[in-house]
Amino acid sequence: MRIDCPHCQQKCRTRSSYRPTRELHKLYLECTSEICGWRGIAVSFFTATTTPSLTPDPLIRIPMDTASARRLIGQLAIDPVGRKLLLEQINEQFGTNAQ
Ligand SMILES: [Zn+2]
Repeated sequence: MRIDCPHCQQKCRTRSSYRPTRELHKLYLECTSEICGWRGIAVSFFTATTTPSLTPDPLIRIPMDTASARRLIGQLAIDPVGRKLLLEQINEQFGTNAQ
């Protein structure tokens, strides 16, 4: 993932990173422009799941993107048994009550 300097728009280089949780990354960046010289910290975290993991970790709770959930449920609309199982899995994995 390319991150540009907020000042001169040149590419930033990741000097080091820290992962305080499995859902969060803290990046120590520096601008590659020798003239600019900016350094700073950026945070990257997961905001939504678009395709559920086939090997989900029960400790990881990244909310399901609403449009993606509707798409997945729609794909199973012709299979009522599969739809019910998917809804149960989504509700269990994400703590929701989708119907
Ligand atoms: Zn810069």
